[in-house]
Amino acid sequence: MRNLWKYTGPIFDAHTHIRSIETTSKMIAIEDEHGVSKQIGIVHDEEGFKKTKEQYPSRFVFAKYLSLSDIAQYNVEPVLDEISELLDQGYSMAKTWFGPRWRDFIENVPRDFRINHPNLYPIYEALEDNDIPLIIHVSDPDTYYLSQYRDSEKYGFKDDHLRELENVLSRYNKLRVQIPHLGAQPEIHRLSHLSGWLDKYPNVVLDTASSRWMARELSKDTKKAREFMITYSDRVLFGTDVFGGRGEREYYSGRYLAQRILWETDERNTPLPIPDADTVKTGGTFINGLDLPLDVLRKLYWENADRIYSALS
Ligand SMILES: [Zn+2]
Repeated sequence: MRNLWKYTGPIFDAHTHIRSIETTSKMIAIEDEHGVSKQIGIVHDEEGFKKTKEQYPSRFVFAKYLSLSDIAQYNVEPVLDEISELLDQGYSMAKTWFGPRWRDFIENVPRDFRINHPNLYPIYEALEDNDIPLIIHVSDPDTYYLSQYRDSEKYGFKDDHLRELENVLSRYNKLRVQIPHLGAQPEIHRLSHLSGWLDKYPNVVLDTASSRWMARELSKDTKKAREFMITYSDRVLFGTDVFGGRGEREYYSGRYLAQRILWETDERNTPLPIPDADTVKTGGTFINGLDLPLDVLRKLYWENADRIYSALS
């Protein structure tokens, strides 16, 4: 039934994760079937990074995953060292991750930790001075705050997390920032706030990583979602968040399929082709397609990421 997609050009996946070369090669083989020919690879394995770079010389823009345990303890020096070396090592970008569950893994976090604490300013300054784009993941779906992050004493509140990030954006207005997961605000009631960010901070772009989060939330009001995607069509980059070694063929394929249905079709109530733990108890997740115009799809899948990042690879 879906043998012809509206968009038939190449895909730049602006959010993937790299581990060993074996798992990366398997991931690439499946990506190829889905038209992905360029991607940002966030590196979690040094050895895998070196081999990937050798075997796939111009496919990747590599992002260095900055040490969370150091950042979380305001241990700035080692992070500044990482930043000063990363371009020479073959990376072009940096990535930091602050999904609130980071507090489950890191010990001795200062009580006042926040990503916009003055102790961390030198990190943002170093990235800005060296014109190294930063992918910064802050916050998580609303659904998580209602379930696994109920302990707000420990995990904090979503609006506070977003405010901290906005404070960073406003301080470093030359730092090139990519905020994954549509700025962690694909929930329909958050889109107007997100529009405000894009209007105020021209240095910010978003990616669409997490097919299930995007599909679940944007499908709830296709009119508003479609309007947002068209208005900010120069600022949103296609991304999947696929992780080398995380699963088998269906894991990868399902993620591409879910987004293609969402962005390209006018289907209604199509079951999400991947599991969604957040809705198993409430009847499941269904996709309502946004049927985006072809010129918007071209920017989303390829042109935006190509314009912003291809010179870096
Ligand atoms: Zn990710």
